[in-house]
Amino acid sequence: MNIRIGNGYDIHRLVSGRPLILGGIEIPHSLGLLGHSDADVLTHAMMDALLGALSLGDIGHYFPPSDPKWAGADSLKLLSEVVTLVKSKGWTIGNIDSVIVAERPKLKPHLNSMRDALSQVLAISSEQISIKATTNEQLGPTGREEGIAAYAVVLLMQG
Ligand code: MG
Repeated sequence: MNIRIGNGYDIHRLVSGRPLILGGIEIPHSLGLLGHSDADVLTHAMMDALLGALSLGDIGHYFPPSDPKWAGADSLKLLSEVVTLVKSKGWTIGNIDSVIVAERPKLKPHLNSMRDALSQVLAISSEQISIKATTNEQLGPTGREEGIAAYAVVLLMQG
Protein backbone atom coordinates (compact mmCIF):
# COMPACT_ATOMS: atom_id res chain seq x y z
CA MET A 1 0.00 0.00 0.00
CA ASN A 2 1.21 3.50 -0.84
CA ILE A 3 0.74 6.20 1.76
CA ARG A 4 1.33 9.96 1.57
CA ILE A 5 1.06 12.73 4.13
CA GLY A 6 0.31 16.39 3.58
CA ASN A 7 0.11 19.46 5.75
CA GLY A 8 -1.74 22.72 5.30
CA TYR A 9 -1.83 26.11 6.98
CA ASP A 10 -4.02 29.17 6.56
CA ILE A 11 -4.78 32.43 8.33
CA HIS A 12 -7.37 35.10 7.61
CA ARG A 13 -7.96 38.52 9.11
CA LEU A 14 -10.89 39.10 11.50
CA VAL A 15 -13.11 42.04 10.59
CA SER A 16 -16.58 43.30 11.45
CA GLY A 17 -19.44 42.85 9.01
CA ARG A 18 -18.49 39.35 7.87
CA PRO A 19 -19.91 35.98 8.98
CA LEU A 20 -17.52 33.65 10.80
CA ILE A 21 -17.38 30.38 8.83
CA LEU A 22 -15.19 27.56 10.11
CA GLY A 23 -15.36 23.99 8.86
CA GLY A 24 -18.40 24.91 6.81
CA ILE A 25 -20.34 26.03 9.86
CA GLU A 26 -21.45 29.60 10.57
CA ILE A 27 -20.49 30.45 14.14
CA PRO A 28 -22.14 33.32 16.03
CA HIS A 29 -19.51 36.02 16.68
CA SER A 30 -19.15 39.79 16.45
CA LEU A 31 -16.36 39.41 13.87
CA GLY A 32 -15.86 37.29 10.75
CA LEU A 33 -12.98 36.34 8.48
CA LEU A 34 -12.04 38.51 5.53
CA GLY A 35 -11.24 36.85 2.22
CA HIS A 36 -12.12 36.48 -1.42
CA SER A 37 -14.11 33.31 -0.69
CA ASP A 38 -15.94 32.71 2.60
CA ALA A 39 -12.45 32.69 4.20
CA ASP A 40 -12.98 29.37 5.97
CA VAL A 41 -9.42 28.87 7.23
CA LEU A 42 -9.98 25.33 8.49
CA THR A 43 -11.34 24.09 5.18
CA HIS A 44 -8.56 25.91 3.31
CA ALA A 45 -5.89 24.28 5.48
CA MET A 46 -7.43 20.86 4.81
CA MET A 47 -7.51 21.53 1.06
CA ASP A 48 -3.82 22.48 1.08
CA ALA A 49 -3.00 19.34 3.10
CA LEU A 50 -4.80 17.16 0.53
CA LEU A 51 -3.08 18.86 -2.41
CA GLY A 52 0.26 18.84 -0.61
CA ALA A 53 0.09 15.10 0.05
CA LEU A 54 0.08 14.51 -3.71
CA SER A 55 2.44 17.38 -4.60
CA LEU A 56 -0.37 19.00 -6.56
CA GLY A 57 0.37 22.60 -5.60
CA ASP A 58 -1.88 24.74 -3.42
CA ILE A 59 -5.38 26.16 -3.42
CA GLY A 60 -4.18 29.48 -4.85
CA HIS A 61 -3.29 27.59 -8.03
CA TYR A 62 -6.76 26.02 -8.42
CA PHE A 63 -8.88 28.84 -7.03
CA PRO A 64 -6.92 32.08 -7.61
CA PRO A 65 -8.18 35.09 -5.62
CA SER A 66 -7.84 37.12 -8.82
CA ASP A 67 -10.66 35.08 -10.41
CA PRO A 68 -14.08 36.66 -9.75
CA LYS A 69 -15.57 33.16 -10.13
CA TRP A 70 -14.47 32.40 -6.56
CA ALA A 71 -15.77 35.61 -4.95
CA GLY A 72 -17.76 34.67 -1.86
CA ALA A 73 -17.30 30.98 -2.69
CA ASP A 74 -18.51 28.31 -0.26
CA SER A 75 -15.24 26.65 0.71
CA LEU A 76 -16.98 23.28 1.10
CA LYS A 77 -17.64 23.40 -2.66
CA LEU A 78 -13.96 24.10 -3.28
CA LEU A 79 -13.05 21.23 -0.95
CA SER A 80 -15.37 18.98 -2.90
CA GLU A 81 -13.42 19.75 -6.09
CA VAL A 82 -10.14 18.91 -4.36
CA VAL A 83 -11.59 15.63 -3.05
CA THR A 84 -12.70 14.74 -6.58
CA LEU A 85 -9.17 15.42 -7.83
CA VAL A 86 -7.61 13.27 -5.09
CA LYS A 87 -10.03 10.40 -5.77
CA SER A 88 -9.50 10.64 -9.53
CA LYS A 89 -5.87 9.76 -8.90
CA GLY A 90 -6.87 6.65 -6.95
CA TRP A 91 -6.20 7.91 -3.42
CA THR A 92 -8.44 7.62 -0.38
CA ILE A 93 -8.27 9.61 2.85
CA GLY A 94 -7.07 7.74 5.92
CA ASN A 95 -7.54 10.50 8.45
CA ILE A 96 -7.22 14.24 8.95
CA ASP A 97 -6.01 15.97 12.09
CA SER A 98 -6.36 19.72 12.47
CA VAL A 99 -6.07 22.64 14.87
CA ILE A 100 -7.85 25.99 14.82
CA VAL A 101 -6.05 28.82 16.60
CA ALA A 102 -8.55 31.40 17.82
CA GLU A 103 -8.67 33.51 20.95
CA ARG A 104 -12.44 33.89 20.68
CA PRO A 105 -15.16 32.69 20.36
CA LYS A 106 -15.18 29.37 22.19
CA LEU A 107 -15.19 26.77 19.40
CA LYS A 108 -15.56 23.56 21.35
CA PRO A 109 -19.40 23.53 21.13
CA HIS A 110 -19.14 23.69 17.33
CA LEU A 111 -16.41 21.15 16.62
CA ASN A 112 -18.70 18.17 16.12
CA SER A 113 -20.90 20.13 13.71
CA MET A 114 -17.79 20.99 11.71
CA ARG A 115 -16.73 17.34 11.67
CA ASP A 116 -20.17 16.31 10.43
CA ALA A 117 -20.20 18.95 7.67
CA LEU A 118 -16.68 18.09 6.53
CA SER A 119 -17.24 14.32 6.67
CA GLN A 120 -20.06 14.66 4.12
CA VAL A 121 -17.86 16.51 1.65
CA LEU A 122 -14.78 14.37 2.29
CA ALA A 123 -16.94 11.21 2.07
CA ILE A 124 -15.31 9.75 5.20
CA SER A 125 -16.69 9.21 8.69
CA SER A 126 -16.47 12.01 11.22
CA GLU A 127 -14.38 9.62 13.31
CA GLN A 128 -11.62 10.03 10.69
CA ILE A 129 -11.65 13.81 11.18
CA SER A 130 -10.07 15.41 14.21
CA ILE A 131 -10.58 19.12 14.85
CA LYS A 132 -8.97 20.70 17.86
CA ALA A 133 -9.25 24.30 19.01
CA THR A 134 -6.71 26.28 20.98
CA THR A 135 -6.08 29.88 21.91
CA ASN A 136 -2.70 31.48 21.30
CA GLU A 137 -2.44 32.67 24.93
CA GLN A 138 -3.02 36.27 23.70
CA LEU A 139 0.28 36.14 21.82
CA GLY A 140 0.79 37.22 18.21
CA PRO A 141 -1.87 38.09 15.60
CA THR A 142 -4.23 35.28 16.54
CA GLY A 143 -3.77 36.06 20.24
CA ARG A 144 -4.62 39.72 19.61
CA GLU A 145 -7.75 38.58 17.72
CA GLU A 146 -6.49 40.10 14.48
CA GLY A 147 -7.09 36.79 12.76
CA ILE A 148 -7.85 33.09 13.02
CA ALA A 149 -5.42 30.42 11.80
CA ALA A 150 -5.71 26.70 11.13
CA TYR A 151 -3.34 23.80 10.60
CA ALA A 152 -4.18 20.42 9.08
CA VAL A 153 -2.40 17.14 8.43
CA VAL A 154 -3.82 14.42 6.19
CA LEU A 155 -2.89 10.81 5.46
CA LEU A 156 -3.74 9.42 2.02
CA MET A 157 -3.72 5.76 1.04
CA GLN A 158 -3.61 4.04 -2.33
CA GLY A 159 -3.97 0.36 -3.13
MG1 MG B 1 -7.45 30.97 2.79
